[in-house]
Amino acid sequence: MKRSRLTQITQRFVQWYGVHGRDLPWRRTADPYHVWISEVMLQQTQVETVIPYYHRFLSRFPTVQHLATAAEDDVLKAWENLGYYARARHVHRAARDMVERFGGCVPSRWQDLSSLSGIGAYTAGAILSIAFGVSVPAVDGNARRVLSRLFAIQEPLDQTRTLRRIQELAESLVPHTGAGRFNQALMDVGAVVCTPKCPRCDRCPVGEFCRAKAQGQQDMIPVKGKRKPLPYRQVTAAFVRNKDGRLLIVQRPRQGLLAGLWKFPGGRRLDGESLEVCVQREVRKELGIDLQVQRAVGSIRHAYTHFRITLHAFKCRYTAGVPGALGCHDWRWVHRSCLDEFAFSRADRKIIAVFDRQ
Ligand code: SF4
Repeated sequence: MKRSRLTQITQRFVQWYGVHGRDLPWRRTADPYHVWISEVMLQQTQVETVIPYYHRFLSRFPTVQHLATAAEDDVLKAWENLGYYARARHVHRAARDMVERFGGCVPSRWQDLSSLSGIGAYTAGAILSIAFGVSVPAVDGNARRVLSRLFAIQEPLDQTRTLRRIQELAESLVPHTGAGRFNQALMDVGAVVCTPKCPRCDRCPVGEFCRAKAQGQQDMIPVKGKRKPLPYRQVTAAFVRNKDGRLLIVQRPRQGLLAGLWKFPGGRRLDGESLEVCVQREVRKELGIDLQVQRAVGSIRHAYTHFRITLHAFKCRYTAGVPGALGCHDWRWVHRSCLDEFAFSRADRKIIAVFDRQ
């Protein structure tokens, strides 16, 4: 496409943004720390979900220094139910790195930002363009959809080659000044105009340049790659009380899926194993204690990014052994009324609701 056309497209996005851009809390500031936290929270997460978390997180950890010196459990608690908990651990680690290496500031150079935990090309581009005015693209899922339609890209979006091409197209459009506004315009057009289904082409600022629209292919682009079905797992959890009526909970290891979050003891069923045997075996592995399964209490379903589970809960009696953190990071006996002080995953919150109904 000719340079003059590309410039026109850029101008249309920026003009549209001036009138229709969404008024979001993190857009009322150019504070790099605020921009960074909002961008991380917005990954895989709806704007409406993020807003209360964003406010709470910044009032709990108002600066990079506050975040860097916080306990990991407090950071996970502030992130509870927002999902994708690796993000919380990454921002925590990156904040500590910022204090050690950059004087407690969010760095303003690409190579410095990219060296920090959890900051990839998109987040670095967003921080640099929005907070520091650097002319770099920030291509999120919404922007990717808009660009693939605008240029009628016929290759599946999950291919590296396609992603590289879209990145290059974004680089050819991003202006020397006002890159932040342009990047946010692209995201907003994707969010409210060029939506996954039924794009509103009649309201689109770049409709006259759009090749997918000209070819009537809006519904066929972006081209989807073949999706494999998500693997499925069965998982068990034990509701165990001690003599005081307190419930046994365990903290997951500091590495791996949902690291550092709390849960009821239990774990993944092996092939051919009954759920009752599974819960007893997993609790012995985690804590070194024996349980007697009394009855099934209920089950919930949950889908993670790479697999889905059914989590089965059992009421159990503690029969032998002294609890120790063998396969978990920590464990506690806690009153039901104190469970809210601990960070649980969304699936484990669902199983707490099952407990409350029993
Ligand atoms: Fe998307 Fe339609 Fe605009 Fe093309 S014209 S970018 S398909 S909203």
